[in-house]
Amino acid sequence: SHELRTPLTIVKLYTDLLKRSANGSLQEDQVNYLEKIAKGSGELEEHIQKMISISEIQAGTLHLKQAEIPFTTFIRELANEWQPQIEAKEIFFAVQLPEVPLPVSADANRLHWAIANLLENALTYTAEKGSIQLTVHHDNEHVYLRVTDSGIGIAHADQPFIFERFFRAKNDMNYNERGIGLGLYIAREILQLHGGRLTMESKVGVGSTFTCTLPLIGETAVTKEPV
Ligand code: ADP
Repeated sequence: SHELRTPLTIVKLYTDLLKRSANGSLQEDQVNYLEKIAKGSGELEEHIQKMISISEIQAGTLHLKQAEIPFTTFIRELANEWQPQIEAKEIFFAVQLPEVPLPVSADANRLHWAIANLLENALTYTAEKGSIQLTVHHDNEHVYLRVTDSGIGIAHADQPFIFERFFRAKNDMNYNERGIGLGLYIAREILQLHGGRLTMESKVGVGSTFTCTLPLIGETAVTKEPV
């Protein structure tokens, strides 16, 4: 992973340096070129990160660094990060969180990546003026995070394959030319490593709901007696 990442870091670093050191002496189209290089290398970095995660999953070396985190705060911060991008596309963004902190044991970086991936898909596959809802609720044992969009939806025939590696539904090609169909596979694996689940319900033309389930820890969680 070092061999893949280092050359890319150099491209990103020097693109940035070139732009900043030019001190206004670059023409508008030259600045444009640099921005294209920066965007392309950012996307390449995401693809590389996904390929690295896939090989870690297959080798069984994707290890979580878990710590107790308040799930409600975690989701509030994530929602705040995504709000500008979502609203920039004129998509109505509704966030419903409970008053309680809801402690979970999580690898914050990995979990952040998995949930951001769901939000990114919701944003990609929802047209302007649509809506995205982020809802958290809980019972005595689990927290549930629902990401609901009013996007293009996923055809019934495609639904069984949506969490498979490199799968891309047929209806998405006009929306996301660059997708490679790895995000959901990795996101589900991350949830499962946390002892949780990632499930989906969808209807073409109506929208999709992705639900993350995670075990609660602490006093709220009721430990089941062994049968
Ligand atoms: P990609 O990088 O292609 O988006 P994902 O694994 O994240 O890969 O998603 C796999 C496929 O599932 C996508 O190509 C798309 O067809 C479909 N998909 C995922 N999320 C949504 C959504 N919210 N609405 C409609 N289709 C979706």
